[in-house]
Amino acid sequence: MPTDRIPEAVLSRIWNEGWHSRELRTTDGRRVAVVYRGVWTHSNGPDFRDAMIEIDGRLAQGAVELHVRESDWVSHGHQFDTAYDAVILHVVLENDLLHPSSGPAGAAIPTVKIAPFLHGSIEQFMSTIVPLDLGNLGQRACLPTLAGERPEEIRSVLRREGWRRLVQKQLRFQQEMMARSAGETLYRGMLDSLGLSGNRSGMEAVADRLPLIMIERIAVELGVKGLSAAFLGTGGFLPLSPGHQALVSEQTVDTSQIESCWQALVQEYGLSLTSAPVWNLNRVRPLNHPARRLASMAGLLNVAAADGLLAYLMRLPLDDGASWDRWLASAQPAIGESRRRQIVVNTLAPFVAAYADATGDQSLMEQIGVVWEQLPGGVDDDVARKTIKQIVGERRFQVRSALEVQGLHQIGRQGCAHLRCFECPIAALAVQFEEQRFSG
Ligand code: SF4
Repeated sequence: MPTDRIPEAVLSRIWNEGWHSRELRTTDGRRVAVVYRGVWTHSNGPDFRDAMIEIDGRLAQGAVELHVRESDWVSHGHQFDTAYDAVILHVVLENDLLHPSSGPAGAAIPTVKIAPFLHGSIEQFMSTIVPLDLGNLGQRACLPTLAGERPEEIRSVLRREGWRRLVQKQLRFQQEMMARSAGETLYRGMLDSLGLSGNRSGMEAVADRLPLIMIERIAVELGVKGLSAAFLGTGGFLPLSPGHQALVSEQTVDTSQIESCWQALVQEYGLSLTSAPVWNLNRVRPLNHPARRLASMAGLLNVAAADGLLAYLMRLPLDDGASWDRWLASAQPAIGESRRRQIVVNTLAPFVAAYADATGDQSLMEQIGVVWEQLPGGVDDDVARKTIKQIVGERRFQVRSALEVQGLHQIGRQGCAHLRCFECPIAALAVQFEEQRFSG
């Protein structure tokens, strides 16, 4: 069975039931004996607490964390989470990292690849599992009682899932940085966020035709007029129709100058007058129209022109996201608050984390971890709205941070959309706390 189809809960069961040899080996060859497997927490933080493990003859007491892939340690954000300081052993099915993962305190964690030590195949083990009775979960609100009595329990799950989602975004940037420069990766990420959700491929086509090195040269030589001409022309919006003119009318530059500038750019930079990207304009609100978004991007790059995009971003103070937001809010045409938040969460915050990791900047890594915790957020999109309703029903529940919103997206997209309640952390809470549901 492919490892990506094995739920983490199955690994926890294997560990809980001791369905493996008593003696194991770490990936770096040390002998491991499980003296006591620990207490399965079914909750936030490490999977098992108070375990006793002997490693090369030395007894250690602490927590055990299990993952399908070793890299899940990073993608779940445990390296930043002090709750994982207590982990003494990392148990994985697949070790896909070159070096063992490190805890929040920076020390490498002994890692065991468990597959060779199991009593049989994962399929054999799974065939022995009697499914958990989840009652009518998914048909009605999942945690209305807990939302009223102990909302912090729900917040804690949302934050943990939010970390998981943000780290996945960070890893995507890290991967992209292996193929492209950091600045180009950032630039494409910003265009991608501006294209959300129906016009991402159009924005990608613009980025392909207008690489950062070219657009930054245009920024220095021609300022916002050149930038607007390059983006709108490459996007296929020139000459501007009266409707498109109205969309970008907040720009300070005269639209007739944009058109003549585009002709010059075609000559000098070999930009194409044909093969414009394909845009999805069906039911797109004027504020989200790609012509307007491209004009806003021109404004943002113009502000950053003297430093270059990457240097400009890295020079902004790492506060609670306020400096990033001020820059985004300076764009003309204006970018609305909700879209600015999306750009921060989808691009700027995970990009800076990826950059810190790629450059080995530990201090920046720690700072960005703090920023992630502080970013403000609210329920202002359909996925978050539906998921919170699914979890708390009609109860009042205030979502306060971007991390919580990301948690709602993670649960909504990975869980509710496919009714994967059997591996959803909200279901684990429901089994514990929503007794009436399961007894009624
Ligand atoms: S996936 Fe989670 S939040 Fe969604 S319905 Fe199932 S238990 Fe509830």
